[in-house]
Amino acid sequence: MNSTTEKRIALISVHGDPAIEIGKEEAGGQNVYVRHVGEALAQIGWKVDMFTRKVSLEQDSIVQHSENCRTIRLKAGPLEFVPRDDIFGYLPEFIDNFLEFQGKNSISYQLVHTNYWLSSWVGMELKKIQGVKQVHTYHSLGAVKYNTIENIPQIASQRLAVEKQVLETAERIVATSPQEKEHMRSLVSTKGNIDIIPCGTDIQRFGSIGRDAARLELGIDPETKVVLYVGRFDQRKGIETLIRAVSESKVGDCNKVQLIIGGGSTPGNSDGIERDRIEQIVNELGMSDFTTFAGRLSQDVLPTYYGAADVCVVPSHYEPFGLVAIEAMASGTPVVASDVGGLQFTVVNEETGLLAPAQDVAAFANAIDRILLNPEWRDKLGKAGRKRVETKFSWDGVANQLSELYTQLLQPQPLASTAKELVHSAAELVQSTAKELVHSTAELMHSKAKQPVLVAK
Ligand code: UDP
Repeated sequence: MNSTTEKRIALISVHGDPAIEIGKEEAGGQNVYVRHVGEALAQIGWKVDMFTRKVSLEQDSIVQHSENCRTIRLKAGPLEFVPRDDIFGYLPEFIDNFLEFQGKNSISYQLVHTNYWLSSWVGMELKKIQGVKQVHTYHSLGAVKYNTIENIPQIASQRLAVEKQVLETAERIVATSPQEKEHMRSLVSTKGNIDIIPCGTDIQRFGSIGRDAARLELGIDPETKVVLYVGRFDQRKGIETLIRAVSESKVGDCNKVQLIIGGGSTPGNSDGIERDRIEQIVNELGMSDFTTFAGRLSQDVLPTYYGAADVCVVPSHYEPFGLVAIEAMASGTPVVASDVGGLQFTVVNEETGLLAPAQDVAAFANAIDRILLNPEWRDKLGKAGRKRVETKFSWDGVANQLSELYTQLLQPQPLASTAKELVHSAAELVQSTAKELVHSTAELMHSKAKQPVLVAK
């Protein structure tokens, strides 16, 4: 295998470290995606290096996950947490250190898969420097996000420009749902190549424990109706909608319901502030007796929580994909989700759960009641969800699709198509030169025609 066809790839995720604990501020779906894609690719023969930004001196610079998969942390800016909106200025240093790493290790990546717009810029620069091919996954689109928030950050115009440029120049964009692709086309650009390859989940891990055993482990009464939320504390995740919906629901009225909110936070940080706000609403609505803030749930304990729940609610204002929905479905638990973005793709309304308009408290209350008050239907929805995930969203399946894409991109360009491109660009050159010639001759004649008048004056 020569250097152009070697199965080696750099996954770049500047702000989403694939080796850290998931479920805290700015550590969610992207980190899970990069880590699992990396590990699954390594299992099918790829050498995978995942590059991220180092955020403290104590962090190891290299974490080896398996023989062919590692996380490499590069210095870019201060060795501390920096919110993603403030990272752009540190990217040139990230690139310098990436190049230095390549040099020191005698590696030259031919292909990079970048994640989120910050990394996409790194990929585009590497394309200029060493002609890498680039695959990009957005994880979030500025054009969608800025439509749903009030305080638009200063970096917004830069982000929008970079997101358009990468769509138009990367060898391939990976949209994780048809809805995300549609948003790219309608809000970003009609140019560029987009493939749809969904996110995945661990179908062995999720679904490994049944409801009774899970409840026994967590000390939850078999008769209790359990409503579960898993995710970061961020206003756009819509936790407030869920709380108000449970408070309005019929089951919220009886004393047989338990609401579990899982997700980490740090006091004083943006997620800590959102958690305080949510806790205050819980108290105001008199729900504190049956609401548990479970804190950050590790990936090891998560299957037990999903398994114990009667329904998992994903009330996000927007979600490009939404891993939590497929994790719950893989666990045989029906999902009530906002009728937006990738959730319209993962959750099949009335078959694997229910979709409700985002932020519509009454609709969420009604959907939660419908599932909780009909255990037979709940089980039917749960089974259908598990089946859907098995057939569409396993990491192995996702990694196979990505592997095919990478392999195709790494193939040396067939001579015929190179020749075709050459002919095409030569023709374009001739055409534009001819056009320019006609244009300047016309201008010359025009100015000559004008001259006598000027002279006469
Ligand atoms: N997560 C976790 N522990 C928590 C909360 C969340 O491991 O306490 C994980 C969750 O299992 C999922 C990811 O974080 O894999 C969240 O991904 P999702 O796409 O739902 O949301 P994002 O964070 O990307 O907005």
